Amino acid sequence: MSHRLTGAGIVAGVVGAPVRHSLSPLIHNAWLAGAGIDGAYVPFAPPPERFAAFIKGLRGGAVRGLNVTLPFKEEALALADRASPRAAAAGAANLLVFETDGTLVADNTDGLGLLAAFAEQAPGFDPAAAPVVILGAGGAARGAAAAFAGAGAPQVRVVNRTLSRAQALAEALEGPITAFALSDAAQALAGAGAVINATSAGLSGEAGLDLPLAAAPASALVMDMVYKPLTTPLLAQARAEGLRTVDGLAMLIGQAVPAFEAFYGAPPPKDVDVRKLALAALGQSEGRLKE
Ligand code: NDP
Repeated sequence: MSHRLTGAGIVAGVVGAPVRHSLSPLIHNAWLAGAGIDGAYVPFAPPPERFAAFIKGLRGGAVRGLNVTLPFKEEALALADRASPRAAAAGAANLLVFETDGTLVADNTDGLGLLAAFAEQAPGFDPAAAPVVILGAGGAARGAAAAFAGAGAPQVRVVNRTLSRAQALAEALEGPITAFALSDAAQALAGAGAVINATSAGLSGEAGLDLPLAAAPASALVMDMVYKPLTTPLLAQARAEGLRTVDGLAMLIGQAVPAFEAFYGAPPPKDVDVRKLALAALGQSEGRLKE
């Protein structure tokens, strides 16, 4: 079905600085076309120092809502009139919805996307069955820790290069969360059911984390939020050691599903292969199926 946009169309978008690398316009517009919904999804890149002014202007009713990416996720939460419990727990918003009276509501669907990625690529995985290890202590790690604590993980072990940031995260969130220095990663990996990279290590051109994955059980799943490259150094290491993996693109698409529903009032169509479109845009191939 072709993309339909009339004067009655619903407009939403993504805001970031920079935003040109974002795959969200590709994903949402493909779903819009597939569902035959009258609407559009557009990128916005306001100067970072004018983000608050940009949001204030949109309270006039120009758009239904926004996805939010770096560096605006924390500021987006602060500017909202109301926040969902999961956005408050994550300390960041990746989704803003404008109500008809201009009220701004913040949400965070990254945790849902993370759990959806596990459900899709590791069917049968039970987040409540064993400790989970989260690498990193930034916004993405915080959202992941909140999601896994909420899903009943018996322990959430946050491992970070800067130990004090991991400790601050453990103190800020409710649940069985403990902090580890990167140098104590082997201790954190012992008995883990899942290991999640929520650092930017391994992003195109950057060195990966040097983790002692052999310290994790053979049944552990290894997930990387980085999706460019799709097969990150960590995922390649995990596969070489015989561990099952979950990739960051599944999370990206998973977080977009509830955002699409919030904007356009309908679930994305199931017959549009947005993963294939995203891989083509990234210049990547389906590494996980080949290996
Ligand atoms: P932040 O900048 O807030 O946090 C970065 C974290 O990475 C910090 O804990 C930092 O440690 C750590 N780090 C950075 N480089 C290294 C390195 N070389 N070695 C060890 N640790 C390192 O980023 P975010 O939390 O917002 O995002 C993290 C990653 O997750 C990004 O790559 C982002 O693109 C990705 N992401 C993917 C999503 C998806 O849908 N797939 C959704 C959200 C995020 P320190 O504290 O010591 O500086």
